[in-house]
Amino acid sequence: MATTPRIAWLVLAAVLVSACATSPTGRRQLMLVSEEQAISASRQAYVQEMGKYQQAGKLVTDPQVLRRVRVITERLVAQAVKLRPDSAKWQWSVQVVDDPKNVNAWCMAGGRMAVYTGLLSQVDPTDDELAQVMGHEIAHALANHTAERMSVAMAGQAGVLAAGILSDNPGQAMAAAAVAAKLAVDLPNSRTAENEADRIGIELAAKAGYDPRAAVTLWQKMGAVGNGKAPPAFLSTHPSDQQRQQRLGALAPQMMPYYQSKGARPTYPVRVGGGAA
Ligand SMILES: [Zn+2]
Repeated sequence: MATTPRIAWLVLAAVLVSACATSPTGRRQLMLVSEEQAISASRQAYVQEMGKYQQAGKLVTDPQVLRRVRVITERLVAQAVKLRPDSAKWQWSVQVVDDPKNVNAWCMAGGRMAVYTGLLSQVDPTDDELAQVMGHEIAHALANHTAERMSVAMAGQAGVLAAGILSDNPGQAMAAAAVAAKLAVDLPNSRTAENEADRIGIELAAKAGYDPRAAVTLWQKMGAVGNGKAPPAFLSTHPSDQQRQQRLGALAPQMMPYYQSKGARPTYPVRVGGGAA
């Protein structure tokens, strides 16, 4: 590649100037990639990541675990699709990764999710609490936070990554975008994005029939896991501070009518387990 890092920075700076978008809440967002690009890059990153886990025999196949995750996720996704009808064409799927040390879960652009067994074994969430984690992660994807974090990842890795993504070679651009999509999973969201995901996530979960009060107990449990030793991966991107618990505690009563409403909760088919594709 002939592009020098200096030129890459200049290109990036030019893109940055034109790439600041404003969110519906009036927030300035750094947007170097479109949501479509984030979805296709996420697909590639997901297949790569899960392919590695599959080869290592690290994708959980235990039907009991998968059934539990399926019930919760399919009810949440039914609400996600109601909230954002165009997400019906996403490839909603979830894998459970056998990694007991990793307290983590995420949802990429386009609805591809992962739950790590460390979250299940160390936090030991109830179904209501697990629904809060998944609802929160789904909310990030619905609110297009993946593209926002990919943009941050690209800006932080400008020399290599931005030049790759902006290159004329589609293969190279795609590979670099997949790296950005993977990096995006590990990057913290902005505080405002976290607030948005908390607000949308607790509502998705309540409408799916999960107790909104579990949002508070979830973060308490999560914080307890982080005490003392090295904090879990999820906490490095999701600080479990008092403010967050207070905000969720204040939101919970508003969500109770959704939770308490009668009638069966709809489900939406989600691909659960069964490999990397
Ligand atoms: Zn979050």
